[in-house]
Amino acid sequence: MGLTGLEIYKQLPKKNCGECGPPTCLAFAMNLASGKAALDACPYVSDAAREALESASAPPIALVKAGTGDYVVEMGDETELFRHDKKFYHETAYAIKVSDNLSEEEISEKVKAINSLIIERVGMHYKVQFVAIDNESGNADAFVKAVEVANSITDMPLVLMSKNASAIGKALSIAADKKPLVYAATEENYEEMTSLAKEKNVPLAVYAKGLDALADLVQKIVNLGHKQLVLDPGSRDLSQTIANFVQIRRQAIKKKFRPFGYPVMAFTRSAEPLQEVVEAVSLTGRYASLVVLNTADPAHMVPLMSWRQNLYTDPQVPIQVQEKVYAVGEVNENSPVYITTNFSLSFYTVQGEVEASKIPSYIIPINTDGTSVLTAYSAGKYEPEQIAAVLKKIGIEDQISHRKVVIPGLVAVISGKLEDASGWKVIVGPREASGIPSFAKSQFA
Ligand code: SF4
Repeated sequence: MGLTGLEIYKQLPKKNCGECGPPTCLAFAMNLASGKAALDACPYVSDAAREALESASAPPIALVKAGTGDYVVEMGDETELFRHDKKFYHETAYAIKVSDNLSEEEISEKVKAINSLIIERVGMHYKVQFVAIDNESGNADAFVKAVEVANSITDMPLVLMSKNASAIGKALSIAADKKPLVYAATEENYEEMTSLAKEKNVPLAVYAKGLDALADLVQKIVNLGHKQLVLDPGSRDLSQTIANFVQIRRQAIKKKFRPFGYPVMAFTRSAEPLQEVVEAVSLTGRYASLVVLNTADPAHMVPLMSWRQNLYTDPQVPIQVQEKVYAVGEVNENSPVYITTNFSLSFYTVQGEVEASKIPSYIIPINTDGTSVLTAYSAGKYEPEQIAAVLKKIGIEDQISHRKVVIPGLVAVISGKLEDASGWKVIVGPREASGIPSFAKSQFA
């Protein structure tokens, strides 16, 4: 929540010395309010005023970063309770847990499996963000060895899971360069853990059972000077965890309760992978910034990551592809031409099925403002004259020797008018994209 210029002005020294750039404190306050100046430009702001201004202008949920380079993970910095009010900004990160009870070979195999969890679907890339090394053995040496093995074969940041500050210290000496998340500071160890996290400038998870205890512990850690925090309210029961997350989010956004102004994390509990994914889906839908799972099987993770992708798109901006000619395979002048819409899910689904047909083809997504075929047709955005104009201007006529176009079966009704408007022969394709391979073989093989 931003402050007004007058609210900021009340906190300024009112010397009107001009050292900050503008001639008066009021002008400087106005620049601050509009984001054109930084508070550091005034050398006379008192510590109390700085604290008040920074606190009041801070986002309701802090942005916390782990990882480096291409593997930076951003968590938090959310402003909404409900996605339809605006959007959610930083998608839930997933960590896959690796126990230090495993042999070095097993650890290596699982981390490699986690590394390979990069999946492309409908033009988007899905991946997990962390490898979580769990000090399940309780043995510091085993933990440090597991961290060493994992860190040597992944570029992802680690979640260092141990309540043993000494073991965390040794693990950080190996893995701190990739900015891991330390899990976790507790009532018993928070001073040592905070000191380690501060020294290495890494985020720190805070674990306490219950919201009151969590708020107290967060405040103690903030008082020690560390604010890169991720909160674990301690419940291991799914419904209670979600209730806690909702309460934390409401308090952070509606009440600006600072101890809860941090991203939250949770763990799946089920030993059965599909149930685990169901838990992770629920947690993703209710504000988790990080979920730690056990399964690294793509068959389990793809549905979860698809759900995440849907949740973290902007509901006010349909995902679109550019209106242009797309070639699938080794096309030539005789290749078929399909049209669809520029709604990315429609386009990539058609593209996948055309690829599956193994008949090189062109695809032209008509610009329908990112709506699907029937929606576009209902809204008057898939009119024969419009499609004919696209076929004329988009350059396809220079690339093929025929004049035949395949339209989606759902809009078979426009075929006659499109033939009249374009002069092309119109072939009505299948109603569903899944019918394209058999349709293509019957028409073009
Ligand atoms: S430097 Fe500080 S005291 Fe001087 S005019 Fe700017 S805001 Fe006011």
